[in-house]
Amino acid sequence: MSERTHDTIESGAPDPMPYMHPLMAKNYGKWVFHNHPKPGVLYHRAASGDEIWTVKAGTQRQMDHYTVRKLADIADQFADGYVRFTTRSNIEYMVTDGSKVEPLIKELSDSGFPVGGTANSVSMIAHTQGWLHCDIPGTDASGAVKALMDDLYDDFVKCEMPNRVKLSTSCCEINCGGQADIAIIVQHTKPPKINHDLVANVCERPSVVARCPVAAIRPALVNGKPSLEVDEKKCICCGACFPPCPPMQINDPEHSKLAIWVGGKNSNARSRPTFHKLVASGLPNNPPRWPEVSVVVKKILATYKADGRPWERMNDWIDRIGWPAFFEKTGLPFTKYHVDNWRGGRNSLNASTHIRF
Ligand code: SF4
Ligand code: SF4
Repeated sequence: MSERTHDTIESGAPDPMPYMHPLMAKNYGKWVFHNHPKPGVLYHRAASGDEIWTVKAGTQRQMDHYTVRKLADIADQFADGYVRFTTRSNIEYMVTDGSKVEPLIKELSDSGFPVGGTANSVSMIAHTQGWLHCDIPGTDASGAVKALMDDLYDDFVKCEMPNRVKLSTSCCEINCGGQADIAIIVQHTKPPKINHDLVANVCERPSVVARCPVAAIRPALVNGKPSLEVDEKKCICCGACFPPCPPMQINDPEHSKLAIWVGGKNSNARSRPTFHKLVASGLPNNPPRWPEVSVVVKKILATYKADGRPWERMNDWIDRIGWPAFFEKTGLPFTKYHVDNWRGGRNSLNASTHIRF
């Protein structure tokens, strides 16, 4: 156990031991058996004979303090005051007394937190920060996730998929999203609109030029003021110039869309990690419920559930049936833009640190 002092460096992953449930800290690295008694519950037994049940529930991630206090009260009552949050905004309670598992599930369900998200279910969606924490989102990832998970409630609380399904939502297409079985990603479709009156005062022009992955930005003199110009034929509408130069506005209520990619995973169990690939694009960025996104995701999930073999992840299923069958079975329209293996990327992407004009 490490002691936190006033000069603790508060960057990087913190030491987990001081926050860990004492029974888990005691048996760290000495677990000998685990199973999955029911959706939302994992059971672990240690060499010492100690037992622990982990009960997982979904949350809406952005929570008011009443909700946080409610979750903390439940932890005090059932789990010795210990909880942990997963990267997908699930909350996990560790219970050392098996007789408390069902009452805990009831308390969570009665309080509006569905219990599930384990094994071959659809777990909560990993999502990026959205409007609350970031300055460049094209949509509110948290809102899209809440709306979609309301629609996928049954798939969260039941384990009926061929294998686990990990979803993600990214509110821009360049930064913190990750690989997922199904990923929902903002897609800008028009080059940025430049406010030339502001560029000289707000933007460091060389760094903006260097940010462009296809070298489409050049310094320019506009109306006698130093500014920038974009070669719109080269621009791939990625949005990378907007964070260092907000006068290059790329968000647009009509032309910022959502795209859906499938078949990505980080795990190397059974098959190697894979990149997800584009299967639907141009979906309207339509808050507060994003219904068009929901229709496509549900269509893909229903087809995977009906056609996938036991243990096949989304990418394994698509590898077996092939991309033409994927589009036929899901009914999604296929165009030449949808499946890109990036063979041409070496020529078109800016792969060096040199600034090119
Ligand atoms: S995905 Fe992009 S917009 Fe969203 S939080 Fe990350 S950096 Fe910000
Ligand atoms: S950084 Fe992206 S959006 Fe900006 S000009 Fe270059 S390609 Fe276009």
